[in-house]
Amino acid sequence: MTTGRPDATRTDDVGPLRLDTRLLDGFTFGCRPDCGLCCYAEPRVETAEVAGLLEIVPEAEIRRVGREAFVASRPDGGACQFLVGNRCRVHARRPHPCREYPLTVHLGRRLQASVVLSCPGVDPAALLVRAGGTRTPAPRGLESELAAVEERLGPATRRRLDATRRRGEKVERVLSAQGRWEDDAEVRRRLRGQLQGPDPGDFPTEDPPDREDGLERLPLFWDGRTGPVGLARGLGGWEALEFAPEGGTRSLGVFPPPERPPTVDPAALGLLTAYLAYWLERDAFLAAVHVGMLDSDEGSVSGWAAEELRVISAETLSRASVRAKLRSGPVEVLTADHVRDGIRAVDQDWLDRPTWGERL
Ligand code: SF4
Ligand code: SF4
Repeated sequence: MTTGRPDATRTDDVGPLRLDTRLLDGFTFGCRPDCGLCCYAEPRVETAEVAGLLEIVPEAEIRRVGREAFVASRPDGGACQFLVGNRCRVHARRPHPCREYPLTVHLGRRLQASVVLSCPGVDPAALLVRAGGTRTPAPRGLESELAAVEERLGPATRRRLDATRRRGEKVERVLSAQGRWEDDAEVRRRLRGQLQGPDPGDFPTEDPPDREDGLERLPLFWDGRTGPVGLARGLGGWEALEFAPEGGTRSLGVFPPPERPPTVDPAALGLLTAYLAYWLERDAFLAAVHVGMLDSDEGSVSGWAAEELRVISAETLSRASVRAKLRSGPVEVLTADHVRDGIRAVDQDWLDRPTWGERL
């Protein structure tokens, strides 16, 4: 199945709900058995899923927060309690976030699926195909993840979507009253042709959190090691910490982030620009921009969005540069492979930002 053109509308009907899957086009997914990055988390678990987990692991610890339940991870930054030797003990009954990853679905005015580019099983090079304006192939390797998402769509999703739509209308009314509102299509139309890398003033970028703020807050990426690597604010730079499945970290050194925009080759700039184009199409991005605007009474949606895209591009290059130093020492020119590493080190963090919508 292919789309007729990259921006063609392709929606999947699921009962009365429609899941917009266009942002999946072009991507290929294959989980890397040596990775385990997404298991350094506490996946949310539905009540109906708990019994299945307890059947396999009777001593499983389920953490309850209000009306929600989560699989407890091991203390001190450790992996999910079910991860043993990089294998999931409850694979057949794993909770829904694990069955759906690397898909993420934003509930806003619509249900929009997108790919989490932090997952090393997804090649961000597909962004170039999307940005190239050529025929975009349907996604490959994401069938079971998509089926897991569709399985969860039902009356409760409809109620949540109605609620997020009402919140979106309220935000629109507030910004319209201030003369600052532009609808999503208008913002995208204005910014599509103007995407570029960061400005010198965007450097140095914001430091990652301090390890004392909580290891679970650190940006994580997979680096081919046993555990993922997290970045923390350190003395004289960013400290790279390797996480252990049982908990605890090991320092891999401190690496200064760039003080000014790193030099990038043309292929790297092309990938970075294609990445920004992907962000612009994500509803979660514009809904997060709106939330930020509510704290101020200045600037239009497209102005704020342009600025945030520049910040994303600067953070991507900063993390790419630090990852390159971690891997092989300082590099003079960042290549597309470095930018790919930067994308993987940054994408989840920006997806985790609050929006007026919700994540499915
Ligand atoms: S992050 Fe991606 S590649 Fe790694 S284990 Fe999870 S799904 Fe697989
Ligand atoms: S339940 Fe399994 S797949 Fe999900 S986070 Fe835990 S170990 Fe990973």
